[in-house]
Amino acid sequence: MQTMTGIDQLRLWRTLMDLRQIGAGATEADGITRLAFSPPELEAKAYIRVLMEECGLDVYTDAVGNVFGVYQGREPDLPVIMTGSHVDSVIRGGAFDGTLGVLGAIEAVRTMKEAGIRPRRTIEIVSFSDEEGTRFGAGYMGSKALAGKLDDRFLTLTDQEGESYETVLTKAGYEPSAYPKAKRDSREIGAFLEMHIEQGRVLEEADIAAGIVTTIQGPLWLQVTIEGAADHAGATPMAIRKDASLAMAEAMLAVEEAAVTHGGVGTVGSLKVKPGGINIIPGEVVFTVDMRHGDTTLRDRMLTDIEASFSAIAGKRGVSFKTLVTKKEPPATCSEDIRASIHQAANTCGIPVKDMPCGAGHDALIMSTVTRMGMILVRSQDGISHNPQEWTSQEDCAKGTELLMRTLHSLAEERGDEA
Ligand SMILES: [Zn+2]
Repeated sequence: MQTMTGIDQLRLWRTLMDLRQIGAGATEADGITRLAFSPPELEAKAYIRVLMEECGLDVYTDAVGNVFGVYQGREPDLPVIMTGSHVDSVIRGGAFDGTLGVLGAIEAVRTMKEAGIRPRRTIEIVSFSDEEGTRFGAGYMGSKALAGKLDDRFLTLTDQEGESYETVLTKAGYEPSAYPKAKRDSREIGAFLEMHIEQGRVLEEADIAAGIVTTIQGPLWLQVTIEGAADHAGATPMAIRKDASLAMAEAMLAVEEAAVTHGGVGTVGSLKVKPGGINIIPGEVVFTVDMRHGDTTLRDRMLTDIEASFSAIAGKRGVSFKTLVTKKEPPATCSEDIRASIHQAANTCGIPVKDMPCGAGHDALIMSTVTRMGMILVRSQDGISHNPQEWTSQEDCAKGTELLMRTLHSLAEERGDEA
């Protein structure tokens, strides 16, 4: 195996800062907005295509706008090693979420090419469409299309303007009904590796630049409606009230308790109190629960505990609970082999790393249903993301990319799973 030169830190940084201009608001505080299939997101993908072409890759776009750059290996018939992330963003997002994984992959392959390294297996870089799900409330659409996990229902989802996914895809120049063509045979893909910013504070607190993901926690979302009785806030004694808001307060604490008991996380991120008057006892409350755990059994136990608490609260307060599961993605375990490869890369170039679960969802979660999967996380300043202040230092971006390059190289050279 040839020795590898380091990646070009400044060149990588320049591409991150160039891409940051696309979809940027008028001031820094406005951040970056590149919603799926909006003009800035399409422009960002065009920028990625240009970089891939400059790098000498074979570039193509699939039926749902996923952009690919292919570096042919010495044995192109073997399953490919795929790597990448996304360039769409949330509203007023930051410059590193997703982009680091795509631009880092391009820099990694470019460095290999310049060092005269042509690995055994083909390396395929991907920039997935609509990872964030902000526009249509779904997310992971590009990777789901590749994994064959979409059905026609997604075409009828609508954005804030009432435009359907089908219309938006057509306007962006795609043929919506062709989305099944984006599905890839799992035998063509030997591994998927994603580098992404951490979006939390674990690495910063450990004073370490990069993490190796053990499991990606699968989100389970609930929408909960509590029905009580709306009465006069002055004329109704405390003892005979059916206050939906007090039931909600107890329910929120039950979510916290279930998460702490089972070592997961639980969040009530949105709540609506109705009718919503200062002198009216709330008759109805609607709130959401986001629960995550790296272990499906324990996540299910969190749910069982929460539901038991809800029914106890209902009995005690004379209200009723209606619970609807709106999202349920299984957690994913990262491949031991890929984790070992990243560790080896870290040892070789002297970059300290930390094994850790990943709390945020990523395309890698979906890709784990297609092939073995691994993730490298890179330190986020103050743990901030989905925010204009999202920041990862130039040096940390370079370290993560160095690990990505070395891991891609060793995966692309490995023997044993030629079937
Ligand atoms: Zn992301």
